[in-house]
Amino acid sequence: MLRQILPDAGTHRGTRQCNHQGCYKSTREGKPFCPPHITDAPYIQHVMLEIAKQRREAEILEQQYGSIPKNGFHARECLFLLRMGSYTDKALSKHLDISHKAAKRLIGMMVTWSFATKEQASRGNVIIRGVAPPELEDLVD
Ligand SMILES: [Zn+2]
Repeated sequence: MLRQILPDAGTHRGTRQCNHQGCYKSTREGKPFCPPHITDAPYIQHVMLEIAKQRREAEILEQQYGSIPKNGFHARECLFLLRMGSYTDKALSKHLDISHKAAKRLIGMMVTWSFATKEQASRGNVIIRGVAPPELEDLVD
């Protein structure tokens, strides 16, 4: 009776082999990869690629040349924040975990793309405000 309720219980469990080329370890719970090869999994590959793109954007913002995609991570995150209000360059740097210099550069790009306006505030600060932020899904390069 119990066998009918639990389909294939025990028959495949633990018997699946890692999909990594040359690896013959069996995986746990029917997973496609063993723990050392989990980075071969498409979802993990996707996440790692996104993190790499995000880091590359942060490097570009940090340098004083090059541009980031306007539908990339930082522009999207910035638009998301601007829906909730305006930010100083320092607050933006904190929220996006980028340097103050990189935040100022991002603000410049956001203004160039007409996603935001900026105004000079006291003590050299800049305030960024969203300009009727476009729907994120409408953004194209
Ligand atoms: Zn493996």
